[in-house]
Amino acid sequence: MKIDAATELLGVVGHPVSHSLSPAFWNEALRQEGRNAVFLAFDVAPDSFQAFTGGMSVAGARGVNVTVPHKKAAFAASTRRSEHAERIGAVNVLVFEPGEIVGHNTDVDGLLNALDDLDVRPSGMRILVVGAGGAGHAAVWALAVAGADVLVANRTRSKAEELAEAAGSTVVDWDGLDDAAREADVLVNTTSVGLDGRGSVLDRPALERAAAGRLRVVFDAVYGASETPLVLAARHAGIQAQDGLGMLVHQAAAAWELFFDAAAPFDVMQAAASRAAGRGARSV
Ligand code: NAP
Repeated sequence: MKIDAATELLGVVGHPVSHSLSPAFWNEALRQEGRNAVFLAFDVAPDSFQAFTGGMSVAGARGVNVTVPHKKAAFAASTRRSEHAERIGAVNVLVFEPGEIVGHNTDVDGLLNALDDLDVRPSGMRILVVGAGGAGHAAVWALAVAGADVLVANRTRSKAEELAEAAGSTVVDWDGLDDAAREADVLVNTTSVGLDGRGSVLDRPALERAAAGRLRVVFDAVYGASETPLVLAARHAGIQAQDGLGMLVHQAAAAWELFFDAAAPFDVMQAAASRAAGRGARSV
């Protein structure tokens, strides 16, 4: 790849960030599309985040993806925000414009487009969102705005209550997940359970009971080199299930459109992300 004085700077900022797939698949997509830009990973401690955004802005970077734990700090650092970011209270994409730092939330596009790939059209559906962290906020708001009847459960109940009250959705007891899953059409896991390849918010017997009820689709925002325990258990129970790699690519495609004001090469990004995750090219 040619790097010269006109090369544009993009990246992902997190803490830690060494596990991120984004540099691998972004740089492959940039290369294949012939863009003179480079995408780097920045490991920035929380107390340095403000200095980081100021420095990137002064250096003329085009934009960055923002991941854990900086999404709230990125919201605060934005001088202007998209409607989605404003509503959710979290920013996962910063675009540096002259004199402005513009905050967006493409996790919303990521989730809705990943669900659309599974033929889930949220309007009128009952959707159980498990988790009330950053991804949970994006999911609850996205689904509520899309017209779903949203149920929220979180290990720490107070966070689910706060989110449900703001988004006009209903809180479900953590101990009542099993029953709520039976009465929902779709379950979206936004907790980090399963990230280490172990554990699932619902086990196989519970998923079999849910399949005998209303549950038809399980979407797990978690992703890794192999399918998550929740996805495997749901498929065993006869439920259509997908992990979060597709969401990652869809949110990145939305970020590409913000950075370049041009359509994203989705298929190229998808194949590159799948390879970066250590999977076959078509298994996102
Ligand atoms: P976060 O803000 O730190 O929230 C973590 C959530 O997980 C909270 O709801 C937390 O519950 C819950 N949790 C953690 N450990 C748990 C356990 N042992 N049992 C039950 N609940 C537990 O993180 P986040 O940004 O929302 O990310 C959550 C997951 O979504 C991560 O795995 C991340 O990789 C994934 N994600 C994927 C995408 C994508 O594009 N696919 C995008 C964003 C996030 P408490 O409130 O009780 O602590």
